[in-house]
Amino acid sequence: MLLIFPPVAKPSEPPAGIARLASVLHAHGIPCRLLDANLEGLLWLLEQPLAATDTWSRRAGKNIARNLAALRNPQTYRSPDRYGRAVKDVNRLLATAGPEQGAVVGLADYQHPRLSPLRSADLLAAAERHEENPFFPWFSARLPEMLDGVRIAGFSLNYLGQALGTFAMIGYVRQQFPELTVVLGGGLVTSWVKRPGWRNPFGGLVDHLVDGPGEEFLIGLSGGAGECCHHAPPEFDSLPLRKYLAPGLILPYAASSGCYWNGCTFCPERAEGNAYRSLPVERAVSDLRDLTARTGPVLIHLLDNAISPALLRGLVERPPGASWYGFARFDCELADPDFCRALKRSGCVMLKLGLESGDQGVVDRLNKGIDLVTASRVLANLRQAGIAVYLYLLFGTPAETEAEARRTLEFVVRHRDSISFLNRALFNMPAFGAEAAEHDVEPFYEGDLSLYTAFRHPRGWDRTKVRRFLNNEFNRHPAVAAILRNDPPLFTSNHAPFFAGTR
Ligand code: SF4
Repeated sequence: MLLIFPPVAKPSEPPAGIARLASVLHAHGIPCRLLDANLEGLLWLLEQPLAATDTWSRRAGKNIARNLAALRNPQTYRSPDRYGRAVKDVNRLLATAGPEQGAVVGLADYQHPRLSPLRSADLLAAAERHEENPFFPWFSARLPEMLDGVRIAGFSLNYLGQALGTFAMIGYVRQQFPELTVVLGGGLVTSWVKRPGWRNPFGGLVDHLVDGPGEEFLIGLSGGAGECCHHAPPEFDSLPLRKYLAPGLILPYAASSGCYWNGCTFCPERAEGNAYRSLPVERAVSDLRDLTARTGPVLIHLLDNAISPALLRGLVERPPGASWYGFARFDCELADPDFCRALKRSGCVMLKLGLESGDQGVVDRLNKGIDLVTASRVLANLRQAGIAVYLYLLFGTPAETEAEARRTLEFVVRHRDSISFLNRALFNMPAFGAEAAEHDVEPFYEGDLSLYTAFRHPRGWDRTKVRRFLNNEFNRHPAVAAILRNDPPLFTSNHAPFFAGTR
């Protein structure tokens, strides 16, 4: 079996999903290879002769080897300006690589002027005309050597930026290797399949769509026998670990799926009804310690939607042996300054925290389960402990009006010294959640695969007004602007921990 992670996603760390599948398959004696087509494809594209002639592109082309080396060098992360220039130059070079086909490739995205990843007809067109994809010359040479002796090709599709590339690769595989069984899974596919009334439009192209964890299905498909062992520590060994764009290996690891809180009204996890499943804390901590000893990461990325308080305590008791970061909640554990200091000693360099709003009424209506007084205390504790905070805000929810958005601004200004990085999102209403049923949903939609729907805001706080508020008022406030300048361009939270000490 060959498991493929297609382009485009941020190439800063190895893909966790296929690494986890590989370990479980190997535990069942099923041979399997991994291909990070995202990393390999992007690096190949960066080596191609330069098509553009403008000054910036020529400079980016001339300096590409130096910029890639800089992004793999810890020294670069001490100079945000040098880092920012390297990222933007590399991204510029990628953007000039696909203009003949009209596609714009980036370090974090893939845009096409006509084809949308939200329309199944466009994905089928990408498969049909796969030779127009900017990665075609690379994958049409690389896939035949990787598919030699393989019976099953599995594609892991997690982000919208991967969708057109995934289908182009599938179209090529279908045409050149018609005897192969093609399986498509991953987070985005899971979201599609969980939509009520889902009907598979890819039946003629893909043999199997898999929603949720794919181990059991793949073991059955490969003729594996015995009860499925659902967990084995992910295997990264066959991936090119030194080539990712980071100052050392970032080790991704998920101790759970779903969310232990599972209460926020706007949350896609909740709308999809994803159950919470977690590994025993002992198991997760042992995995992390073993993986750290074996691979020597510079950073551990905990992928859980929210790291449970039990796992936080486990990490304090048995530190993993490398710096780590991930999403946590404003829970009462973090309101204890001693606990925050202990977290820091365990290696925690940054926590991503979803506050969404600085207004208690909004926070309550979103069912965040957060008390703003506790949130203030948590932020102060983390600052004192030396743990950076990447704070997530959400504007334009049905629960909010302009006056309340302004209270979020006031909250950020009051806590400016404790917030290292900020993420501001515009609310998207999950198309099939309980909220959509309660609101005046508009018939506008971007495509048959769209997971979100437009809605009429009950109090007139629509997207145009929210955008105006963000652009004209929120982002321009000197305290906010100073925090926003900290954000690493394009890689954002994936590289932010490397700047945590300098903020
Ligand atoms: S804490 Fe995060 S993952 Fe959990 S329900 Fe809320 S938004 Fe969803």
